[in-house]
Amino acid sequence: MSHEPKRADFSIPVHIDLYSDTQTRPSLAMKQAMMDADMGDEQNGSDPTVWALCDRTAALLGKSAAMFLPSGTMCNQVALATHCRRGDEILAHQDAHIQSSEAGGPGAIGGVTIRGLPGARGIFSADTLRDAIRPISRYAPPQRLVEVEQTANKGGGACWQVAELKAVADVAHEHGMQVHVDGARLMNAAVALGVDARDVVADCDTVWLDFTKGLGAPLGAVLAGSTEFIGEAWRWKQRLGGSMRQGGMNAAACLYALDHNIGRLAQDHANAAALAEGMSRIPGITVEPPETNLVFFGTEGSGLTAAAFAARLRPFGVTVSVSGPFRGRACTHLDVSAAHIAETLAIMRQVLV
Ligand SMILES: *Cc1c(COP(=O)(O)O)cnc(C)c1O
Repeated sequence: MSHEPKRADFSIPVHIDLYSDTQTRPSLAMKQAMMDADMGDEQNGSDPTVWALCDRTAALLGKSAAMFLPSGTMCNQVALATHCRRGDEILAHQDAHIQSSEAGGPGAIGGVTIRGLPGARGIFSADTLRDAIRPISRYAPPQRLVEVEQTANKGGGACWQVAELKAVADVAHEHGMQVHVDGARLMNAAVALGVDARDVVADCDTVWLDFTKGLGAPLGAVLAGSTEFIGEAWRWKQRLGGSMRQGGMNAAACLYALDHNIGRLAQDHANAAALAEGMSRIPGITVEPPETNLVFFGTEGSGLTAAAFAARLRPFGVTVSVSGPFRGRACTHLDVSAAHIAETLAIMRQVLV
């Protein structure tokens, strides 16, 4: 069985890419910032641009230290392995990315198991967490860490309210557990909630931010936490091959994103709301009301699977992703304009008649 991704069909150009916010291409200005970057050897601490990115992101997230890594997945794996020992258990939502989409990394790398918690829209309550906590005993796996996704991807891009997150973090801390935030789309949550990112994660111990989603950089994510935690995490970064050399070139793109691509996330949310509103008026399509830039929809009423619907859109240069037999996802980002939304809705109506 090959696990290599299927090559895209490059003969049909993609015109409106709603597949994911990972699809953004670096802008000319971002590439110029990369060209101008000061560089050194990230692995031995001599790349000034990587240090600048780490310092700025740590401040943005209200943590004392940070490290640059190639991807969000590696941030999760480094963080989980640093927090936990072999045999420990992590409590996370049952639809969490660490559970479904990281190739079993928590077990394979960290030696930990994940207990999946239920809850609507990818969010679980403090009571649900409390119910999942076992008395400490020789028989039970040590429960070391609570993990939350902000925003919750498979939950429809839903935001944890600050109070919900605080309640969960309080229960975790009462029981001697730490709290880790998968912040692949943390800035979308901060913008949608109208709360500074550092205040969103104030009650959490570790958090990372993806630069390759809504922020539009080609590579990179930053993991933040206490100075002691990041110091320890460096051994896992090194062990997994996540230490880089002239990382400054990519860090410069991330710094550019911090300067230019955060405030505009509100536009992605408005575009997602307009797309959802338009799709909800297409017969046969149901829409989960979006909170941020992810629009999940159902195709069952149209008689088409989500994959068949996606296949009908593709010749028109429109891509969406498939997340279940009749569940699809359209994602807005900085390469999708309001005009693209109107065009997408017209194409969707056309392919369903
Ligand atoms: C995309 C994503 C990740 C992984 O990030 P990569 O940078 O693609 O490795 C982790 N968690 C969530 C919720 C995501 O959406």
